[in-house]
Order: sequence, then C-alpha cells, then structure tokens
Amino acid sequence: MAALRTLKLLALRMLRVTGVSTLVLGSPWRQRRLLILCYHGVSLGDEHLWSPGLYISPDLFRRRLDVLRSSRANVLPLGEALDSLAKGSLPPRSVAITFDDGSYDFYRQACPLLAEFGFPATVYVSTYYVDFNRPVYDTMVSYLLWKGSGRRLEWPEILASPCVLTPESLAETARAFRAHAAARGFSARDKDVLLAELADRLGLDYERFCERRTLCLMNPSELREVTEMGMDVGLHTHRHRSYRKRELFVAELEENRARILAATGHHSEHFCYPSGASLPVFAEWLSACGVRSGTTTEPGLVSRATNPWFLPRLLDASTTPDEVFAAWISGVAAWLPQRALEPSDRYLFDG
Ligand SMILES: [Zn+2]
Repeated sequence: MAALRTLKLLALRMLRVTGVSTLVLGSPWRQRRLLILCYHGVSLGDEHLWSPGLYISPDLFRRRLDVLRSSRANVLPLGEALDSLAKGSLPPRSVAITFDDGSYDFYRQACPLLAEFGFPATVYVSTYYVDFNRPVYDTMVSYLLWKGSGRRLEWPEILASPCVLTPESLAETARAFRAHAAARGFSARDKDVLLAELADRLGLDYERFCERRTLCLMNPSELREVTEMGMDVGLHTHRHRSYRKRELFVAELEENRARILAATGHHSEHFCYPSGASLPVFAEWLSACGVRSGTTTEPGLVSRATNPWFLPRLLDASTTPDEVFAAWISGVAAWLPQRALEPSDRYLFDG
C-alpha cells in the first residue's frame, strides 16, 4: 500500500517536472471536466491533529486556496458549474468547493478565507445539531478520548474493563460510548450530559469546548449569514443518515430541507450522501424530491458522462500531499489508479 502510494507520488512528480501537468491543466480535455473538492472542517484549535483525515488547519486551507488562485482555477458555485457542464460551456480549469456537515468552524474559519479569495462554496448541512446546538456526540466522544490520551479510564457501566487511553485504544473505546448511548436510547440532552461527565473524568473542561463551539454545527442565524455571503447551503439529511426505505429516506430529506429553508430562506437543490453511503435507487428518490445532484466521496473528475446523482469528489484533508492536490487541480491525478473504497452501504439505516 505504502509502496503504491510512493509510486503514485513519483509518477505525479514526473508528470509535473516534464511539464505534462501544466499542459493538461490548460487542455480541452480538462476543460470538459469539473473537479469537486470535499472538505469537512477547518480547525478552531487542534482538530486536525486529532482527525487529520477530516480536518485541515487554517494555514493549510489558505495554502490550498493559494494553489487554486495561482493555477488560475475557475472556482464556481456547484449548481452553476453543473449547468455549464451540461451545456458544454465550462470555463477552463473549473473547480467547485464543498464542505460536509455544516460545522461552526466553516462559519468561523473557512468562510472568511473563502470570502478573501472570492471563492464560492456549497456547505452541506445536517440540521439536527443546528437546533440542538451542542457538540455532536459521536465526534465529541472521540475528541475527548483523544484529549485524554495517557489517562486511565474506569467506567464499568460503559467499558468492559478499565483502559489507558492511547491512539490504538481510541476507536474501540469511542465505539463503546456510542453503543452505550444507542442501547439506552439516549436523547441528545442525555448524550450531552454523558459528554460532560466523560470530560470531567478526564480532567477536561467541557463547557469551555462548548463556549468555543468545538465540534458544534452552525446555528440558524449563522446559516443565514453564510447564505448572505453567497455560500450555498445544501442537503445532508436531518440526522446524518440515509435509510434503505423510501418513506424514511424522503422524510429525513424533507425535514432537512424544511429546516434549511426556515433558517436561510433558500430551497436547497444539492445533496451529499452522509458518510458517502448510497444505493442506486437513491437517484430516483432524490429526483422525485426535486434534488438536482448528489455527491459521494469517490475520487474522480466530473464529465458530461457522469451520473449527476453520484458525483465524485476529491476528499482533501491534512493527509493529502501537496503534490496530489496539485495533480487533481491539473487533472492528471485522475489518470492513475484510485484506491478502491470500502463498501459504504454499512452506513445505511434500516429504520
Ligand atoms: Zn457528513
């Protein structure tokens, strides 16, 4: 795996130093394609050290925007880019920027940087934690356990045995907390109380994280503000879940859309699959609900031949090498074999 990654980096470097990447960036082939970038969060503090696969530091995000500017990329609103693609009138070097989940750090960190560069973005928002504006349970459990690294945690009601928190034990310990809340049917309020107790046991100040809005989502007035700044708020289901049953799937979507409409005054038309999990039949369900596109986390460029309900994106995070990012902007990265993703349907809900 590591050897393949090294080979790919070498190939990309060769394409760059021989001038092929620059040729491709300005080519008619690239002009017929759109690159959609996918981000999750821009750190308020140390989130990129906790989850480098999802979070990016503000400095690195600025560097990415610098690369887009110096490559003379045309950063377009997603809807406009898809319309132009369908009409065959995409400008050269087209890119659309998307953010998943709607975290507060989008408002606080990403939005001002995007505005400084004059780049639009779509932010897909799951609305449950917009209204209950406290840290998202699943991610905050993991973050608190990471912050408590090195400490011993003994909690017989939740953990089968006492454990010392290490990077290796983190995932399994976090799973035990998620299972505990699920088995007892905890409400969001119950989960919030549990987070406060976990923080307390680890010697951490939970209310301070809440004041900083760490791992919180934007509230309704922040959603309105980012809309007024020209950002598009997209659909991501109300509770960050896609159901296999049509009526449950549609209910999640409609609840999400109604809350976004109430907050922003705008009717969302673009959807992103929570956790990237999709089924072929979702295309028909989304279309019947008046949704125009669906984005996944499969890497790739979008062409006119791409199914609009399953648009690939480059997931960019702290773990993405600069060389790889630049190669996706030029388009040459799409020529190399991509890592097969694990099947995503395990993230689907039965209801
Ligand atoms: Zn998501």
